Amino acid sequence: MKSKANNMKEKIDLAKLVKDRLNIIDIIGREQKLIKVGSNYKSLCPFHNEKTPSFTVNMQKQNYVCYGCGKSGDIFSYIMEKYKFSFREALEKLAAEANINIKDHNFSDNANKSRKESAHYHTVMKYIASYYNENLKRYLIDNSMPFLEKKNISLEKVEKYQLGLSNNSNDLEAFLNSKSVSTEYLIEKNIFKVNSFKKKI
Ligand SMILES: [Zn+2]
Repeated sequence: MKSKANNMKEKIDLAKLVKDRLNIIDIIGREQKLIKVGSNYKSLCPFHNEKTPSFTVNMQKQNYVCYGCGKSGDIFSYIMEKYKFSFREALEKLAAEANINIKDHNFSDNANKSRKESAHYHTVMKYIASYYNENLKRYLIDNSMPFLEKKNISLEKVEKYQLGLSNNSNDLEAFLNSKSVSTEYLIEKNIFKVNSFKKKI
């Protein structure tokens, strides 16, 4: 069983919270008869027709697997499969059973926020890669680069692998600022440091 301290750390993950509060043996045991066999519980599979039980529930792992039809999962997939529920519906049902008020938790907003944040980060990284790449291509018009020639790296490869040349990071900063990426953001995310290390050839 996971500790309560762990729960607190992962408070944005409602599904985990619900799972921690519920026991798969209770949830499934209410729906169908479970027989204890060793450290597991067995029953006839609710998802396919069978005469001998191959549906096995593991209390330690809080999951189930059917050795007949191959269906497996946790309390969420069980409820989804059994009642043809969406994940959201299963979450609502199980949260209610765990005495957790979904409305108290702004989980989808949090999830959205972090998705947006990582998309933004990804975009910034792309800006930087293209900036360095343009830099290198510009440089290669007038100059040769023995290192690249030695490695047999053509201009096409420079383009394809987005190889870049890092020179003046002030220019990069201005470039990113012009793309509405603030310097504070870049520092906060350690992006300058990462890139002078990563993008230099
Ligand atoms: Zn089955």
